[in-house]
Amino acid sequence: TEFRRKRSDSRSKAAFERAKKSIPGGVNSPVRAFKSVGLTPVVIDRGQGSRITDIDGQSYIDYVLSWGPLIAGHAHPEVVEAIKRTAEKGTSFGAPTEIETEMAELVCARVPSIEVVRMVNSGTEATMSAIRLARGYTGRSKILKFEGSYHGHADSLLIKAGSGVATLGLPDSPGVPESTAALTIAVPYNDLASVKLAFERFGEEIAAVIVEPVAGNMGVVPPLPDFLAGLREITSKAGSLLIFDEVMTGFRVHLHCAQGLYGVTPDLTCLGKVIGGGLPVGAYGGRREIMDRVAPVGPIYQAGTLSGNPLAMAAGYATLSLLTEDAYRQLEKLAIRLQAGLERNAAEYGVPMTVNRVGSMVCPFFTDKRVINFETARSSNTERFNVVFGRMLDSGVNLPPSQFEGWFLSTAHAEADIDETVEAHRTALQKL
Ligand code: PMP
Repeated sequence: TEFRRKRSDSRSKAAFERAKKSIPGGVNSPVRAFKSVGLTPVVIDRGQGSRITDIDGQSYIDYVLSWGPLIAGHAHPEVVEAIKRTAEKGTSFGAPTEIETEMAELVCARVPSIEVVRMVNSGTEATMSAIRLARGYTGRSKILKFEGSYHGHADSLLIKAGSGVATLGLPDSPGVPESTAALTIAVPYNDLASVKLAFERFGEEIAAVIVEPVAGNMGVVPPLPDFLAGLREITSKAGSLLIFDEVMTGFRVHLHCAQGLYGVTPDLTCLGKVIGGGLPVGAYGGRREIMDRVAPVGPIYQAGTLSGNPLAMAAGYATLSLLTEDAYRQLEKLAIRLQAGLERNAAEYGVPMTVNRVGSMVCPFFTDKRVINFETARSSNTERFNVVFGRMLDSGVNLPPSQFEGWFLSTAHAEADIDETVEAHRTALQKL
């Protein structure tokens, strides 16, 4: 009886049926459709702090947080106020505004590798633009990425990708030309020997290595000691650029992003999610000498009608302003409590589980293997994940609907939320 929903889900079901008639699969991004867990998604009405409420009036403790951006929780009063105040003055001008510069200055001050930053509208745009810049800057065509990493849906990067692509089991996407895919080399995450081999073979042709400094799209997979430093060394020697895709990790794992946490400085950094505070934003930046190749200073073209728009800048600025050292300490403490609870439950019921965590990114894999790359992540029992996901949703906990996604925490989560979640998880693990 613990698994029975507290309320009916009839409104969500009807709303989703209606959505399917005019939107592909009823969703504007595939993972939301709950296809891999075989359920009908709940349709959301509102969010406040650590919780969201669906249109049937059922509330959930939320660990999706819009897939990462809402590190201060839903509808944080200071973020909402900043958006309102800005909207009253107009929503977009396509002309310079002061808030863009304030935001750029804040990002440059906090991200070690960034001297100059260009705002775009999504993580996909950020990585796509960084790749073009790396190719234009080096005059080379190939890029190297890691299996199970997701860098958005640009053609060059939809090769052996993680996240929704992993869940749906698409090794590639139709529509990506073979000639484009042929320029992307994919090797296992955390495997420096494979990177070295690729460079021995193609070194002169590789424009850049793009890496999630903590992999967050095959579940959560931290870099092994020396992995990032090794990439730094290999790329520097070969005259390739090192691109950190910090769309997920940026301002999520540390005040100075993953590069601050691990002390490795890339040439270019991609940002998104948290820096938009829940509005559509991405950014890419790096050393001035490289960024000066971007138009209008340099010849490499990249543009955007709504780029740097005031609402997104205001929401991002307000969010980053809330992120003090103290906020990260609080997130770490909550995440440790969650991890310990999940591990305790697994031990109690003898369920094989490995919990990976970096800061407030947490992922319990249903495997007893150490998870260090996509192959070991895929040793997880996804059927088990699906059952637990459904049971937890029914007990009022909203998790990402795939084994290959991390759970996020916000500063709005309370210890009581964590304890309630751990209890729901404990119940869900019974009679697996
Ligand atoms: N890079 C990484 C590491 C991501 O996690 C994501 C999205 N989950 C992206 C890029 C793409 O960002 P967006 O969905 O905003 O295009």
